[in-house]
Amino acid sequence: MESMKEKIQKIFEERFGEKGTLYASAGRINLIGEHTDYNGGFVFPGAIDKVIMAEIRPNGMEKVRVFSIDINEYVEFGLKEEDAPSESWARYIFGICREIQKRGGEVKGFDAVFAGNVPLGAGLSSSAALESCFAFALNDLFNNNTIDKFELAKIGQSTEHNYCGVNCGIMDQFASVFGRKGNLMRLDCRSMEYEYFPFNPEDYELVLVDSRVKHELKDSPYNKRRESCERVAKRLGLETLRDATMEALDAIKSDITAEDYFRAKFVIGEKERVLAVCDALNAGDYETVGKKMYETHEGLSKDYEVSCEELDFLNDVAKEMGVTGSRIMGGGFGGCTINLVKKDLHDKFIKEAVTRFNEKYGHEPMIYDVVISDGARKIEE
Ligand code: ADP
Ligand code: MG
Repeated sequence: MESMKEKIQKIFEERFGEKGTLYASAGRINLIGEHTDYNGGFVFPGAIDKVIMAEIRPNGMEKVRVFSIDINEYVEFGLKEEDAPSESWARYIFGICREIQKRGGEVKGFDAVFAGNVPLGAGLSSSAALESCFAFALNDLFNNNTIDKFELAKIGQSTEHNYCGVNCGIMDQFASVFGRKGNLMRLDCRSMEYEYFPFNPEDYELVLVDSRVKHELKDSPYNKRRESCERVAKRLGLETLRDATMEALDAIKSDITAEDYFRAKFVIGEKERVLAVCDALNAGDYETVGKKMYETHEGLSKDYEVSCEELDFLNDVAKEMGVTGSRIMGGGFGGCTINLVKKDLHDKFIKEAVTRFNEKYGHEPMIYDVVISDGARKIEE
C-alpha cells in the first residue's frame, strides 16, 4: 500500500511538477445474496483491502490529463460529451466527469495519476473501485462534498451504463462508496435502505479462489432466470419475489413448471439466508455464516443452475477439507468461490485447492486473500 502511494506521488511530481491530493476506493466482495438484486431482495457486500488510488490536482484548464501507471498510458480529454476518449480505462474517468456534470455538479480540468491492486475482471469490481475513487475525489475537489454518497454510487453505475456498455446494478458502486472497515452492508435492492453489520472474524479469513474460467453461454441464461422469477412473482400476484414465501410457492407448485419452481425456490431461500447471516453476525456466530454460504452454493448449483463443473469442484474441495463456508460469488458460470476459512486451515486449503484444481483442469486458480476495509476516502498525509 505504502509503495503504491509512493509510486503514484513520485510519478505525479515527475509529470506535473507539483503535489496533488490522494484518494482511494476499494473493490468488493459479496458474502451472500446472489441473483437477488433484480428480485427486489438483499445483497450483502463489503469493501476490501484492494484499491484504486489516485493523486489529483485541479489544473486550471478545461481538460483532464491522466496517467494510468498499470496500463502505462497517458490520455488527455476535454469535458464535453464529444470529447470522450477511446481508451477504455479513460472512459471510466470521463464518464464520472460527465455524469457529475449532467447532475448539475461542477467538474473543471485536473491532472491525475492512478494505480491499483484490485485484480481486473476477477469479480472484485475493479471498475467500481476506479469509478468511486474519481467520483469521491471530484466531489471533494470541485463540489464541496455536496453530492451525497448514494448519488456518487449512481454516478458510477451510470458511467458503466452510458460510457462502458455494462448494464450493471448498483451493488458494486454502493459497496465501494459506502464500505467501512470491519463491516458488511445489507442493501435492500427494493427500498435502497442499508444497514451495517459487524464482520470481524478473528479466527477466520476470507479467501477467494478464482477458477479463471468463464463459460461462453448460449441463449442468455441470465434473462431466462429473470423471466422465470418474473413469471412466478406474477402468478403469486406480486411485483417481485421479495415478498414471496416458500408456503405460497408450494401452494402453486402444480401450476408452474418445475424449472420456474426451482428458480423461485432459490430466490426465496436466498432472502431467508441473508437474514439468517445478519442474525449470525450480530451474534458473532461464523459457523452459521459458513453453513449458509454452503446452502447458497447448493441452491445456485442445483436449483438456480448457474454453477459449473470447476466451481462445484472447488466447493467440494472446500467441504472435504472442513472449510467453514464456501460458495460461488457473482453471477456464475465461472469466476470465483468465496471461502470463509479457519486461520489454521488457510494455507493447507489453498495448497490443496490449487494442486487439485491444476491436476484436473490444467491451470492453477488465482488466490486472493481479502480483509473487509474502508471504501472511498481521502488519504490524509
Ligand atoms: P471488474 O470485474 O474487475 O470490474 P471490468 O471489466 O468491469 O472488471 O473492469 C475492468 C476495467 O476497469 C479494465 O479493463 C480497465 O479499463 C479498468 N481498470 C480497472 N483497474 C484498473 C487499473 N488498475 N488501471 C487502469 N484501469 C483499470
Ligand atoms: Mg466491473
